[in-house]
Amino acid sequence: MSTILLEIVTPDRLVYSEQVNSVTVRGVEGELGILPGHISFVTPLQIAPVYVKIGNERTPFAVQGGFVEVRKDKIVILAESAERAGEIDLERAEAAKERAETRLNAKGRQDEVDHRRAELALQRAMNRIKISN
Ligand code: ATP
Repeated sequence: MSTILLEIVTPDRLVYSEQVNSVTVRGVEGELGILPGHISFVTPLQIAPVYVKIGNERTPFAVQGGFVEVRKDKIVILAESAERAGEIDLERAEAAKERAETRLNAKGRQDEVDHRRAELALQRAMNRIKISN
């Protein structure tokens, strides 16, 4: 089975760097399965799980938006934050989810920017909870 180098990078660290058989991401237009030899492209990502396959093993990552860049020699996922399942603090994600939900449910006039912010925080928290479980 052919492989390609996958790097998952955030501003803080290199989260992952391995030769993989395939990567599945959720781009802005939907799910994308990327195999070695794919044509080069760049596309923004949704806040969604990324699944990496090596042989029969499938490893999930929580990736909070960003971009995927597919090149001849490697695939780079660049995100504001990304975690492997084992790195996720479930209690923290559940607390973040609750905070975001409280903000979204708050009565009264709410700034549109604050609302959007809470929505994104909720998406990040739910993504982490999904991967952690
Ligand atoms: P919180 O409100 O809990 O800080 P957040 O979604 O605002 O969550 P981010 O700004 O996306 O957090 O991430 C900040 C840093 O904290 C990143 O390095 C990210 O990997 C890490 N991080 C955030 N939430 C968790 C979590 N539940 N478990 C492990 N690491 C986390």
